[in-house]
Amino acid sequence: MFNIKGIVIASEPMWRHTTFETGGPAELYAVPADVEDLRFLLTTARREERDVFILGGGSNILVADSGIRGLVVNTRLFNEYRMESAGEKNNKTGSGKPTLILGAGLPVSDAAWMSGSSGFGGLDFLFGMPGTVGGALWMNARCYDEEIAEKILWIDAMDRSGRISRITMNKKEWEYKHSPFQTGIGKKLTILRAAFSMYQGEPETLKAGMREKRDNRELKGHYKAPCAGSAFKNNRTFGAPSGVLIEKCGLKGLRIGGASVAPWHANIIINEGSAKAADIRNLLDEVAGKVAESTGFHMEPEVLPVGDW
Ligand SMILES: Cc1cc2nc3c(=O)[nH]c(=O)nc-3n(C[C@H](O)[C@H](O)[C@H](O)COP(=O)(O)OP(=O)(O)OC[C@H]3O[C@@H](n4cnc5c(N)ncnc54)[C@H](O)[C@@H]3O)c2cc1C
Repeated sequence: MFNIKGIVIASEPMWRHTTFETGGPAELYAVPADVEDLRFLLTTARREERDVFILGGGSNILVADSGIRGLVVNTRLFNEYRMESAGEKNNKTGSGKPTLILGAGLPVSDAAWMSGSSGFGGLDFLFGMPGTVGGALWMNARCYDEEIAEKILWIDAMDRSGRISRITMNKKEWEYKHSPFQTGIGKKLTILRAAFSMYQGEPETLKAGMREKRDNRELKGHYKAPCAGSAFKNNRTFGAPSGVLIEKCGLKGLRIGGASVAPWHANIIINEGSAKAADIRNLLDEVAGKVAESTGFHMEPEVLPVGDW
């Protein structure tokens, strides 16, 4: 069936691979060792008409209790880290700026720290954020008034027939929490690696800035309980971030089963320890419904439901 150098497991529990720590089994779960493995997995799945889900750090998904039918591919071994010489002129831009090439499966916070602490700024704003480079690109991750789209030079991705293409940055296709991988043919692409435009900075200054951001996340309670970060997107055109709307509706601490709205942050839904994925999904619906009822505003969930709902 799937004869690869990496790992293939049947019925792998997905709660082990998500920051919510919930979710049923993946019918098939694979960790490709390299690009050839990935090509084999994707083309075989296509031939056998199996659905494929590409897993990063599992920090923005809610996997159904019944699990995921088809093949889940974990990208964690695509962990390349390569800094191109700062002195080398980039032929296209002539900017001579340092370029950082990162594998899609590398934890984005590790990439931020490795580059920042060796004197290259650009991705330092992502230090402390869970997830991989691939997941951050897919989500166009953002925080502290910066977003990953601003830093991209190009992205290499593989389609379901195993073809690799290089996508150059087109700013028009990237918006708030939206990337071209979320729609159309982009949905069928697996991100392999990406290049980022960096700048040279003082390592100690960059490290201090990163520690400050991590401390700020700690203060906001990001790491206190299993969660997936912001439960709802922030639509500031409505005049207030989602957390403020939820808090104003008195929903902090609201609980369904083992899931609750974090008492310390209204836009974080947590697994108190025994939550079923259904508890979390029902709580997301309940919170969105109550906010819509009281303000007329329909919040858009940021957490992605995955699998057989
Ligand atoms: C405590 C906490 C704090 C957070 N703070 C922030 C924040 O400040 N800002 C923010 O934007 N988000 C935040 N998040 C959410 C989350 O960390 C990000 O969205 C992150 O970028 C998701 O990456 P991931 O690798 O975990 O993706 P996953 O959750 O594994 O997947 C998310 C989506 O990306 C796709 N994907 C992943 N890798 C690939 C790939 N290689 N090729 C194609 N598709 C791929 C998946 O198929 C899925 O559709 C936070 C989450 C937590 C738990």
